[in-house]
Parts: sequence; C-alpha cells; structure tokens
Amino acid sequence: MDIHEEKKALRKATRAKLEALSAIDKACAARQVLEKLSRHDQWKSADIVFAFVSMPDEIDTTPILRAALEAGKKVALPKVVGEDLAFYKISNLEQDIAPGAFGILEPVPGLRQVTQEELSGLSCVVLVPGVAFDRENCRLGRGKGFYDRFFDSVGNSVYKIGIGYSFQLVEKVPREPHDQKLDAVIIGQ
Ligand code: ADP
Ligand code: MG
Repeated sequence: MDIHEEKKALRKATRAKLEALSAIDKACAARQVLEKLSRHDQWKSADIVFAFVSMPDEIDTTPILRAALEAGKKVALPKVVGEDLAFYKISNLEQDIAPGAFGILEPVPGLRQVTQEELSGLSCVVLVPGVAFDRENCRLGRGKGFYDRFFDSVGNSVYKIGIGYSFQLVEKVPREPHDQKLDAVIIGQ
C-alpha cells in the first residue's frame, strides 16, 4: 500500500469507530480531555488558545472553550480562507460563533483576526483536531493539510496539542515529509 492509501485506510477505519460512539461515550471523553488539559502546564500558562469548534465526530470542545474564557485566556477560532486557516478572537460563545458557508460553526464576520505579531511574548497553545495520532505526536487529519500549512506558517512559537478518543491513538500514523508533529496528544477515555 502506498502512503496515501494507508492514510485513506486509517481515515476509513476511524470513521467506522466514530460512528459507533454513544452520546455518553462522547460526553465522558470530552470531560476527560478537559480534566487532563486543565492539569497540563502549557495549558495553565497559556495566554492565548487557538482552539476549534468541534464537529459531531470530534471531541466536544464547548466545555474547553468555556473554561478557557472563564480562566481569562484569549480564545481564537479558525475559519477556512482559501487554502489556509485564519484565526479570529472570540469573547462570547453564544454571540461570536455561527454556521458558515458549509454549515460548519465558525467565528462570525466582524471579529478581529489574530496576527502573527500579536503572538510575540505570549504563551500560545493550539488545540488540534485529528483523525488519528501516535505516541511520537504524529497526526493524521481529514486530508486537506490545513494544520500542516498553519504550523508551517507559525513555526515553533506555539505549543500544539492534539485531542482525540482512545481509539484514535494508533501504533503509527503514516507520515509524509510535509506532515508536522505535535508537541502533545491528549486522549479521552
Ligand atoms: P492531513 O494533514 O489533513 O491529514 P495531508 O497531510 O494528507 O492531510 O495533506 C493533504 C495535502 O495538503 C497534501 O496534498 C499536501 O501536499 C498538502 N500540504 C500539506 N502541507 C502543506 C504545505 N506546508 N504546503 C503545501 N501543501 C501542503
Ligand atoms: Mg498531514
């Protein structure tokens, strides 16, 4: 199997497991991820969090977003702009997020985009969704390479934490030269 086929097969195998998850499984995993994250030093000291609004097949990030805002951290959420991810600062979960062009929740128009300059001197954590992860902090995404490109553009100044379900932690994620490693992976049940 070539590496692209391996990636495809892993995405497919994971999708089947995600579909089998109950609402209770999902809620437990989301709570565990928040607990583990809350004990993580990089999270505790983060001034700004680049997070994401979870889709139904991803760990629910709502409690994480709420906790970050309550802890006084700046919170930024991504929107796809062409081939790239742009992050916008939100301050209110009810008002600042709405379904975008593809029905996916994203920051509403009018919010301020977080610039690279603004990050200097700040401790920054990026929460990263993924289809699969491994113990070397390699990550498989949905196949569009958005996070690989984003990490390329921000370099090592940010601390990247992948979050996922236990079955998403696999022996070895197929890795190509452009695939960027994370700094940590947090797994819920
Ligand atoms: P994912 O990371 O979402 O699982 P892949 O790693 O398979 O997706 O990458 C999907 C596509 O994105 C590939 O065709 C790859 O060439 C492209 N890509 C990834 N990173 C970059 C980059 N830094 N510059 C240009 N293209 C990239
Ligand atoms: Mg990749």
